[in-house]
Amino acid sequence: MYNTFNEILLKIAEYDNIIILRHQNPDPDAIGSQCGLREILRANFPEKQICSLGYDEPTLAYLTKMDEFSGDVSDALIIVCDTANRPRIDGKFWSNADCVIKIDHHPNDDSYGDLIYVDDSASSVSEIITDFALKTNLEIPAEAARLLYAGIIGDTGRFLYPSTSPKTLSLAAKLAEKDFDRALLGRMMTSFDMKVARLQGYVYENLVISANGAACVTLTQELLKSMNLKDSETAGIVGVPGNIRDIKSWAVFVEQPDGHYRVRMRSKTIPINEIARRHDGGGHKLASGANAYSYQELEEIWQELQEVVK
Ligand code: AMP
Repeated sequence: MYNTFNEILLKIAEYDNIIILRHQNPDPDAIGSQCGLREILRANFPEKQICSLGYDEPTLAYLTKMDEFSGDVSDALIIVCDTANRPRIDGKFWSNADCVIKIDHHPNDDSYGDLIYVDDSASSVSEIITDFALKTNLEIPAEAARLLYAGIIGDTGRFLYPSTSPKTLSLAAKLAEKDFDRALLGRMMTSFDMKVARLQGYVYENLVISANGAACVTLTQELLKSMNLKDSETAGIVGVPGNIRDIKSWAVFVEQPDGHYRVRMRSKTIPINEIARRHDGGGHKLASGANAYSYQELEEIWQELQEVVK
């Protein structure tokens, strides 16, 4: 049984120091929900010290910046956004906090935290935070609206993925009433460097496609180095195979400096998160991540992907 928005608000009211965290390798929803919530709490509780901590992802610098925290974590309330399981929390000190709240939209595979709000039917945690603010009558400043809107369009592929519900659209419309430049935000989120465009070309050229509509591509360290690309910049190509009509489900294997592969899996309609779970990962039914610790495991994942699309 999950906690209610009102219980979360009452807990927030109890603490002077609030730290908001999210997952490693952040995407727009991770940062949008984390910092959208920060801006809402700062506007509504000006007497509290409220900060967002974590790695500043350079490709998302147009969204916002993380803070420094000078207090004592053991006195603080920590709110973790968009992070299904403990090892993925960006901020290892999280468990030292006096109280922890988990707010998420992934399947609740790891029930950590003193209070939990999980809705895996929500398109994004940014959608949940927007709903939370509206239902508890908290003011949403324009900067919070910008960040939350970014999170929603990031996780819904600009309102195209099946997770986009009528509720998503009506909450996004509430955010759009606020005074921020939506067109500029859209441009920032959809444009990319020439080197990422070249990587897209590489992906189209080198996709392996099975007769049933599974696809995969492998990006080695050597390739990424030769194109002057970082792991985080592969976010700009993960959706690319899905543009091809006959491809149903796909995996992008990204070799890491230690030799293992980060696996980024996507699917149009067939759930692929069970495959991710079997390989040190998890995530949503249609957007999951995993790890392959050998070339053999990479091959196993590719075989399993071909099996599920049959
Ligand atoms: P990504 O391909 O990294 O954008 O991840 C897609 C989805 O899978 C996101 O919802 C992530 O939170 C989730 N995910 C990625 N990697 C992992 C992992 N190692 N364990 C659990 N979930 C993951």
